[in-house]
Amino acid sequence: MNQDINSSHRNQAIRDVLTRIPRKFDPPRDENGKALKISDFFGVNTFDLQKMKEKLPKEIFLKLISTINAGKPLDREIANSVAHSIKEWALARGATHFCHWFQPQTGLTAEKHDAFISFDDHHPTLEKFSGSQLIQSEPDASSFPSGGMRTTFEARGYTAWDPTSPVFIMEHTNGKTLCIPSVFISYHGDSLDEKTGLLKSIEVLSQRAIELLAPLGYSGLKRVTPTLGAEQEYFLIDRSFYGLRPDLMMAGRTLLGGSPPKGQQLEDHYFGSIPARVQAFMSEMEYELYKLGVPIKTRHNEVAPNQFECAPIFEEANIATDHNQLTMEILRKVATRHHLAVLLHEKPFAGINGSGKHNNWSLMASSSDPNLDGENLLEPGKTPMQNLRFLLVLAGVLKGVHQHAGLLRASIASSGNDHRLGANEAPPAIISVFMGDLLNQIIDEIAAGKDSGLSAEAAMIELGVSKLPSVMKDNTDRNRTSPFAFTGNKFEFRAVGSSASTAFPVTILNAAVADGFTQLTTSIQEKRKTTSTLEAAILEVIREAFIESEPIRFEGNNYSTDWVTEAEARHLPHLKKTPEALHQLNTRASKELLAKLGIFSEAEMQCRFHVRLERYIKNLWIEADTLKSMVDTQIVPSLYAYHGHLSQGAAASEALGIKGPQVDTLGRLSALAEILKTQRGQLDQALSAAEKAVTDEQKAQLLAEKVSDAMLDIRKTCDELETSVGDQYWPFPKYREILFFL
Ligand code: ADP
Ligand code: MG
Repeated sequence: MNQDINSSHRNQAIRDVLTRIPRKFDPPRDENGKALKISDFFGVNTFDLQKMKEKLPKEIFLKLISTINAGKPLDREIANSVAHSIKEWALARGATHFCHWFQPQTGLTAEKHDAFISFDDHHPTLEKFSGSQLIQSEPDASSFPSGGMRTTFEARGYTAWDPTSPVFIMEHTNGKTLCIPSVFISYHGDSLDEKTGLLKSIEVLSQRAIELLAPLGYSGLKRVTPTLGAEQEYFLIDRSFYGLRPDLMMAGRTLLGGSPPKGQQLEDHYFGSIPARVQAFMSEMEYELYKLGVPIKTRHNEVAPNQFECAPIFEEANIATDHNQLTMEILRKVATRHHLAVLLHEKPFAGINGSGKHNNWSLMASSSDPNLDGENLLEPGKTPMQNLRFLLVLAGVLKGVHQHAGLLRASIASSGNDHRLGANEAPPAIISVFMGDLLNQIIDEIAAGKDSGLSAEAAMIELGVSKLPSVMKDNTDRNRTSPFAFTGNKFEFRAVGSSASTAFPVTILNAAVADGFTQLTTSIQEKRKTTSTLEAAILEVIREAFIESEPIRFEGNNYSTDWVTEAEARHLPHLKKTPEALHQLNTRASKELLAKLGIFSEAEMQCRFHVRLERYIKNLWIEADTLKSMVDTQIVPSLYAYHGHLSQGAAASEALGIKGPQVDTLGRLSALAEILKTQRGQLDQALSAAEKAVTDEQKAQLLAEKVSDAMLDIRKTCDELETSVGDQYWPFPKYREILFFL
């Protein structure tokens, strides 16, 4: 027989990969052939406020701005005018179609394209785009997850333009489409998407922050906007290897595969020089993003082999969320052009670092007072009063995160992130906050009342808060193990998974902090009745918040097993896997909180719970089915082929009267085959038990435990087989190939 039979595709892939050269990408040039600067083409494919201002009549533009600032729906009267100028701009740039671009609860984006052309009696064909087409669209929405909120017979959901996010043109190989960022709402007005809740949370947080700061005399404060910079980690592998791995194609992660002799232990990849093919990919990817107005700023190698990161300059959280979706889409698209596959999964390879999406989050003031306008409210200030403000905002964040740690854990729960949390270089499933030495000490001193007797002003000086900016600057990344770290002038929510939309985690974070702020505002009003000065009342409230939220602060190593024990003693929730974590969305307290803040009604929370649980179940089911087919149709046949080959040799030796050297190996392989067969049966049993589960929660629990355990057992045996079966017989590209060829 042809002993190459199983691995011939794999060998062909290796040969292909070895001869690949970086795809040439010509940077855009002017008519004289001179390369353009990024600023020459940045945002050419977005119709932002600047362009609107140029194109729209002044009064229409002003009305649009006031609509955007008030977060209100667009008036039909001005919509036609806005639609007209958008259409003219889009046609001039060569767009033929338009679509409402929205974010259903799949974590991805969705779009349905319509051509601009239409007919009427006088003009056989012409391009049309009305105000109502801009404002609203009705996709056939019955196939999007709704968590039971919209039954299929009443499938009418509609999308509505979100004018706070600029429209943009997406280019594809043979055309261009105008995309209108939209929210997706049921016929009854329930939010069916990821964006509606985010927008509401941004509004309510702004309101509550203004109320909190009002007593401090910030009367000119108009808005407080959460800002977001999402660092995006990803793996790149050659597409030929990808195509030979059903697990990567179906589940986004390897379900089997043994560790290579060299993994990441040499730590030579981090910030190392970027491979030429990847460099070529990055340049083109960044070019595409710049045209879309996505401010991608940094690029580098990450810790694991073939792992990379890109990060943007931060923006308002709403826009940053859209831009992160575009980043993921462009990463995928451009990778294909370079014969690469981008892996956004949180843990594509066992034993190798996973990928996260660090959500850098802060609060920015908009004010008629130029001294306050554009200020970062999490930036320690120069004056004692600025520092009091800083500590007050900080106290609100700590209070919110402490009280709603379980909800925050739920906001990042997914089957992919379960493999990452707690693993290499990944934060654990316990939410805690890292503050850094100096700030932690200041907080402790305030909590212990060491400043008592001092005026708020003297206390600020005594505590040395103003030293923070310079100290934190050198100190920001000292603790990489924390899921939620203060890094000088912003928080970094690191537990978010690499493939996740930032919308839901940021919505929940905004909600938690808004709640913290509200409680502080009430406490200040109460305290004010008994304290001599307002500042004293504020300092007292800060102190109480620091004392109350003390359990959430943790400066040590989050990966240590001691932390798990300690966190339990501190009564912090430790929700290891998705089903437990998601349960937090369904508690009375969570539903009341989100309803009280006007972000999600109880039904909308219920919907989020169901959609996420269902997705978890589907993902695990897909993984199990993929593993079964890999074992049955590829591994077992390879094992038999190799076994057969050895048996022939053994038989030939025996005919000559010698004991063949193959016999021992045959014995070992037969034993492994037996084990695999048993484990395969156990997986079937675990799956059929899950199938019989009455509720989705029970089903998810069985998949998280029994089925996952059975899959891990199979993996162990398969990985042992990988090192025992002749290399020429092994069907799947191995880690050493996938991760070290580019
Ligand atoms: P590091 O995390 O290595 O200290 P940076 O300071 O460059 O790196 O920040 C990482 C990310 O944080 C970037 O995307 C950056 O734009 C973002 N960021 C910086 N300041 C803010 C802010 N005030 N609000 C939100 N994100 C911010
Ligand atoms: Mg960082």
